[in-house]
Amino acid sequence: MSVPLPRRAVLRGAVLLGATTLTQAGAGGARAAATRVDQPTIANCATWGARPPSSPVSVVQNRPNKIIIHHTAFPNTSDYSLAQAYRNSRDIQNLHMDSNGWLDSGQHFTNSRGGYLTEGRHGSLYGLLHGQSMVQGAHCVGQNSQAIGIENDGIYLDVQPPQALWDSLVWFCAFTCQQYGIAPTEIYGHRDFNSTQCPGLLHDRLPELRRTVAARLG
Ligand SMILES: [Zn+2]
Repeated sequence: MSVPLPRRAVLRGAVLLGATTLTQAGAGGARAAATRVDQPTIANCATWGARPPSSPVSVVQNRPNKIIIHHTAFPNTSDYSLAQAYRNSRDIQNLHMDSNGWLDSGQHFTNSRGGYLTEGRHGSLYGLLHGQSMVQGAHCVGQNSQAIGIENDGIYLDVQPPQALWDSLVWFCAFTCQQYGIAPTEIYGHRDFNSTQCPGLLHDRLPELRRTVAARLG
């Protein structure tokens, strides 16, 4: 499978963000174009070897108004590799299509314990990069046409996620808020809307996540 140099891209982003901080400090807090959040590397469906959807994905011609955080409840793997992130994306898609009977992955994006981001449902990345529409998901009843859903690999009922997962979640949320004009206060957990324990301890950290994302947005 082709791998789009994620490490180099991540480093490139980190360098730009570092430069942003310097610019902000040097400009005395003045707003500048340099405050924009750089795009994190997100492997698209073709890159991780997704199956085609079983029927056409619906496009919603509106911007989403929130982000919803999930955990997969899969066992916590100690394999932090890119290969594992891709494998996890395929496992989720197979589960959602073969067991749940859905047309594709239910979530829009997936985050691995090693901090690698992948596209979930086909078309999600196109929507995010253009910032004007979204594909209808299947991740949270009542919110699938207005909320971007991200699955974080693992189960966090009594353990915290790895730092790499947290860092990529922050970056993803900041970029998504920027692209769609979503306020950082509009980041929620699955259990805010449905009867579920998802996303475990990540729900307790939503205030921290909102604050950190707000800081990244400047
Ligand atoms: Zn969930």
